[in-house]
Amino acid sequence: MKKLVFATNNAHKLAEVRSLIPQWEILGLSDIGCFEDIPETADNLEGNARIKADFVTKNYGFDCFADDTGLEILALNGAPGVYSARYAGEPSDSEANLQKVLTELTNKSNRKAQFRTVVALNLATKTHLFEGICKGEILPNKTGDSGFGYDPIFNPSGFEQSFAQMSQAEKGVISHRGKAIRKLVEFLNS
Ligand code: IMP
Repeated sequence: MKKLVFATNNAHKLAEVRSLIPQWEILGLSDIGCFEDIPETADNLEGNARIKADFVTKNYGFDCFADDTGLEILALNGAPGVYSARYAGEPSDSEANLQKVLTELTNKSNRKAQFRTVVALNLATKTHLFEGICKGEILPNKTGDSGFGYDPIFNPSGFEQSFAQMSQAEKGVISHRGKAIRKLVEFLNS
């Protein structure tokens, strides 16, 4: 089986991506002995995805891909966006982040939002980028207990449930990360 490193320590993301690319063995950072919290210092998703993939390629010598994801809320002018992981400050706290979003949207009628993922793939000295977007709305309250991050407050367009009420497979069909990863798979198979 062909191997590829996914530059993440997030077990949820790893499980999602493994189910989307069953034909490859996907190694996480801990599988290659990397336990560092790679600093995400860019001011855009593409920059952070490149930083994470480049870190692994330069320090460990593997072909590798990385993703960076942001929740972009229309009424907040695109925030939290690239700062989604630390929206409520350091250290990164998913519960505090989503509560901050709910507070900021109190009494706001426009709750339109989208998740956007950028994947950077380093393959044989070249970087390839893939984007996936999932549009939806921010719910008034947390709903469901699967998934991670902002999943309990995100209702994808055309569905009754939040991401946190969906199975991993159901989320993968429509999600930002699912869309970006399917583009990556198409590229790897081409
Ligand atoms: P990063 O891509 O790991 O930097 O994620 C940025 C922030 O978005 C973190 O707070 C994640 O928990 C959150 N996040 C990333 N992907 C998802 C997702 O698919 N659902 C919900 N939250 C997510």
